[in-house]
Amino acid sequence: MNKDAKIFITGHRGMVGSALVRRLETGGYTDILTRTRHELDLLDQAAVRQFLAEAKPDYIFIASARVGGIHANNTYRADFIYQNLMIETNLIHGAHLAGVHRLMFFGSSCIYPRDCPQPIKEEYLLTGPLERTNEPYAVAKIAGIKLCEAYKQQYGREYVSVMPTNLYGPNDNYDLETSHVLPALLRKAHEAKSLGENALVVWGTGKPRREFLYVDDLADACVFLMEQDYTGSFLNIGTGQDVTIHELAETIMEVVGFKGEVVFDSSKPDGTMRKVLDVSKLKQFGWNPQTSLKQGIELAYRDVIATFPILGLRQKHHPVESTS
Ligand code: GDP
Repeated sequence: MNKDAKIFITGHRGMVGSALVRRLETGGYTDILTRTRHELDLLDQAAVRQFLAEAKPDYIFIASARVGGIHANNTYRADFIYQNLMIETNLIHGAHLAGVHRLMFFGSSCIYPRDCPQPIKEEYLLTGPLERTNEPYAVAKIAGIKLCEAYKQQYGREYVSVMPTNLYGPNDNYDLETSHVLPALLRKAHEAKSLGENALVVWGTGKPRREFLYVDDLADACVFLMEQDYTGSFLNIGTGQDVTIHELAETIMEVVGFKGEVVFDSSKPDGTMRKVLDVSKLKQFGWNPQTSLKQGIELAYRDVIATFPILGLRQKHHPVESTS
């Protein structure tokens, strides 16, 4: 990937897209193309085709998706499958028609079978039933990976996919209804501390295990792969290390300085009991994450305070397009 390559990043206001823009800018890339949702509706096939035909980028990072946590995935099931299918088919087929030769698509760790062995290897894809709570999202993301593979096989396009684990960082979604666990608990701990409350409510039993990656590390891995002209089909990106939700809550409370107790709300689902990626393939390429979970939570907390001064977190923060 040359420094003067024209690189189109979709979903640039979201958590992943904005991290990619930051990483590319610091890496000296000068021709970064972005469009807001208002300027280009990714659900509109004709608009996307026209835009790509005119802009003719050299690379595309598809960091736009309809995303959310366990509750949002389970509630807006139709929106999650429809919007994700549309965004990815419009962009991937449109890229092919416009002669864009290299593209990176973002899947997610939830595309893997619910009960697959842990840590999850790339080859476990499509070897068993999916987790019910996010099945529509996962089916759409699997379709995106298969689209990339098919364009590579039939047309020789270098369309690759990466599977990030649970991400967090600047521009995350802090809406308690739709967010993932880390931003949700960060917000709840911050508010509980600010309001002088003495309990942090954690959904489920606190026993599920999850892996978390700071989003700037993800962006670094993606640019690293593109710079190496990675040509495999898809690759897991994560730390390979997981913690229980209870442990996560304790670390967040420590960073925030909230000294209350953890209360479990068993009316909420646990979802998959363990989700951790096998990242040995990525390691073979020589890439490793730089940010520990505690450091990452400290950085995310700084961002929360800067974004929502005082108790402004109470106001709703709607997710812009980003991936998860
Ligand atoms: P998942 O990884 O797809 O299951 O999505 P989430 O990040 O939403 O949830 C991960 C785990 O954290 C689940 O077991 C949730 O029940 C649990 N969890 C605990 N407290 C919260 C919370 O406040 N919000 C969310 N979204 N999940 C929570």
